[in-house]
Amino acid sequence: MTRLRTTACLLAALATACGTPATVARTTLPTPAPTVAGISQPLDATAGLQRNGAIAAALGDIDPSRIRRIDSALVSFGTRNSFSDTTSSTRGIGAARRWIFAEFEQYARDCGGCLRVEYNSKVQSVARAQGRQVNIVDVLAWLPGRDTSRVVVISGHYDSCVCGMPGGSSDSLATAPGADDDGSGTSAVVELARVFSRRYPKGLDASIIFVTVAAEEQGLLGARQLAEWLHEHHYTVVAGMTDDIVGNVLAENGYADSTSMRIFAADPDNSPSRELGRYVWSLDRLYMPNFDVLPVWRLDRIGRGGDHEPYVSLGDAGLRFTERVENYNRQHLPTDDFAHVNFGYVANVARVNAIAVASLAAAPATPANARAARQGRAAPSAAGNVTRSGSGGQAWTLSWDASAGAVGYELLVRHTTSPTWEQVIPLGNTTRCTLARQLDDEWAGVRAVGANGARSMAASMPAPPTPVRESGAAASPPATGGRGGQPAGPPPPACGDGR
Ligand SMILES: [Zn+2]
Repeated sequence: MTRLRTTACLLAALATACGTPATVARTTLPTPAPTVAGISQPLDATAGLQRNGAIAAALGDIDPSRIRRIDSALVSFGTRNSFSDTTSSTRGIGAARRWIFAEFEQYARDCGGCLRVEYNSKVQSVARAQGRQVNIVDVLAWLPGRDTSRVVVISGHYDSCVCGMPGGSSDSLATAPGADDDGSGTSAVVELARVFSRRYPKGLDASIIFVTVAAEEQGLLGARQLAEWLHEHHYTVVAGMTDDIVGNVLAENGYADSTSMRIFAADPDNSPSRELGRYVWSLDRLYMPNFDVLPVWRLDRIGRGGDHEPYVSLGDAGLRFTERVENYNRQHLPTDDFAHVNFGYVANVARVNAIAVASLAAAPATPANARAARQGRAAPSAAGNVTRSGSGGQAWTLSWDASAGAVGYELLVRHTTSPTWEQVIPLGNTTRCTLARQLDDEWAGVRAVGANGARSMAASMPAPPTPVRESGAAASPPATGGRGGQPAGPPPPACGDGR
């Protein structure tokens, strides 16, 4: 009963808010939401995203038996340690990557050449192996979109190790099946390449890279070389996502969970990664209500890492997908075997991947240069005097760059304590508006809406600081408007008037 009443209040609140943002009274914090499987639900779980029938139909193509076959092939190579044999056709990492390459090429032939299959390789010295050098080879299947400058990356790492054994990290000979870590994620990504090549042979709006990377176990080296390569070649990375350890459903203490998974999204709360986490969480509620995503608002599990990290550190939206319960008795050990991977579960993880990848690739670009500037504060005069205008921050000019392909924009608002957006306000096709509410106490976001109804991720206002690059380039100041003067010219119309 409580839950029904909460939902009714929510719907009433949203109906009131839509289109009349300037006059919405916000006097109470939202009631704590009911929980599903221990997961706190947002007030509007789907955050105004719309279901796409083609994406929903594609989910049925993801085949657990095909994922099982791929993982079986990977395990059959004995070890995929980054220092293992590269010349044998039956054992070692070289055989494994040639098998993956051939699999991608078969899908490319089947779709009339829609996939571009290639290696991305670089010789690196591995700090964790006393500087020993190794050729790190990622295997990529590109599905070009109409916009070839924007890429959505979904990865799994095909290398394995018995890092839990003495000297196992760089042991080139010991059998390291890596069926779950990360044969499961690799198999899911290979299967996604097949499904997308059949469903979208002409691509979507953004390009997609299905990639299996190497040397994750040596310190995320294969993922980092790809992320840096993409930046060096001036691609815009819409999202850098990884499936890592996505097939175990039984914890060490006997607890089992095959109906939910986790996503890890890094700080800060207004970062692109966190926004990607919100986006995927909402999409899961929209498409897969019986398979829960537990959002975890931190970079990764405590003391551990993954292949989304290089993207996060470059300022891109990064996200890790992983199983709900891990079992350390079968990670980085010879016991990480094929018999303990649940392929029905891996298929459900792949379906969550698919809705994330397809939704991101179908949407216009996230609005760039989104910023919020206070209205009603006069700038300091040349004499150093400041004339106060009386605004304590109750009116803001929001602005952003137009996104190619957008037919309109939506404003999103949430309390700083809310894990996800609480209000969605249609804006029409505008790139400036006046927000008449005390943004000091909230977060705002703007997202682009395509003609097909697809929504981009939101750009947060104020924006997060740009990360400092290793080159030493200075970080750009956050586009907050700070305490600075009001923007030039008269205030734009109220946000929401244009609908
Ligand atoms: Zn892993």
